[in-house]
Amino acid sequence: MPALSPSQLEQLTRKLNEEYQALLREVREELENSGNQHRIDLLNNEPGDTGDESLANALADFNLSILDRHIDAMRDIEAALLRIKNGEYGICTECGDDVGFPRLMAYPTAKRCIVCQEQREKRYVQEGHPKM
Ligand SMILES: [Zn+2]
Repeated sequence: MPALSPSQLEQLTRKLNEEYQALLREVREELENSGNQHRIDLLNNEPGDTGDESLANALADFNLSILDRHIDAMRDIEAALLRIKNGEYGICTECGDDVGFPRLMAYPTAKRCIVCQEQREKRYVQEGHPKM
């Protein structure tokens, strides 16, 4: 028996699409607001056409950390939509149990059930911050 009913899946798909569109809007605004015209001109130049200024150097101080987070979130949503398409959505990638509708409504991109997620986070904390 499938863990999610068709109407639940539809609800989650709509939620994912809405979040995706919101992220896309923010990325677009961020790009429009963050770039001064000089940098935008640099991006439009052909390679080797930037004179003695390195394009990589010119972009290095371009603060893209906000965009990186957005792009990661967009990738997560794309992956979740693909899992829906493949009928793999809502199934824990670690133990194969149902992730559960309430958890998916809170975290539509969740790949793991709450038990596996908590175990993973514990492992991550231990590996990431070794105790002296
Ligand atoms: Zn699990």
